[in-house]
Amino acid sequence: MKVIGLIGGMSWESSAEYYRIINQEVRRRLGGVHSARSLMWSMDFGTIEQLQHAGDWPALTAEMAAAARRLEAGGADFIVICTNTMHRMADAVSAAVAIPLLHIADPTAQRIVSAGLRRVGLIGTAFTMEQDFYRGRLAARFGLDVIVPDEPDRRTVHGIIYHELVAGIIRDESRRAYRAVIRRLVERGAEAVIMGCTEIMLLISQADSAVPVFDTTEIHALSAVDLALA
Ligand code: GLU
Repeated sequence: MKVIGLIGGMSWESSAEYYRIINQEVRRRLGGVHSARSLMWSMDFGTIEQLQHAGDWPALTAEMAAAARRLEAGGADFIVICTNTMHRMADAVSAAVAIPLLHIADPTAQRIVSAGLRRVGLIGTAFTMEQDFYRGRLAARFGLDVIVPDEPDRRTVHGIIYHELVAGIIRDESRRAYRAVIRRLVERGAEAVIMGCTEIMLLISQADSAVPVFDTTEIHALSAVDLALA
């Protein structure tokens, strides 16, 4: 079994889900009391969040590259970044180490393509919804037609992530707000919705959407197991 190197803590609320899903899946596949061989470098999200909102991407890139190097030095066989947003510097993280990076968007897009779906709504942080690093990859590599919520809805989705979900706060009112955002994406033709932030699965599930939802946390964690056991 390969050693999974997780860059986590962004936030730890979702990293805990990665750890749970990965270990449950290894036990399910191998039986008995088997569990995953893994390392996690967990960031202080207080620092990360400040740098994100200050737009200090060079400092964040340096933090991420350093984390990847620590995991490689510790014996990781490949890298998993446990957040969509921080894939903004996926190329720099890859370049910092000799081991591969399992990009969160790739297994997600593969599942959408296999399901025969093309027009997808993307919800996540404003960074993920508005910048090109994520949408661009989905479009260029997988031919997906990505739509994002309009500006007020993006603000709602982003605010709930940073004020509630990363702090472990789960509110019915926020779940209703996400349902309404998804409804409006479906009205605009979304055939599926990408839960493109690793904490969103703490708030909503398939039951909250009329079209298929693709949970990046679960998909990414399961594909890490695929790679670890390959
Ligand atoms: N976990 C989130 C994501 O998947 C947001 C927190 C972060 O900015 O890393 O994008």
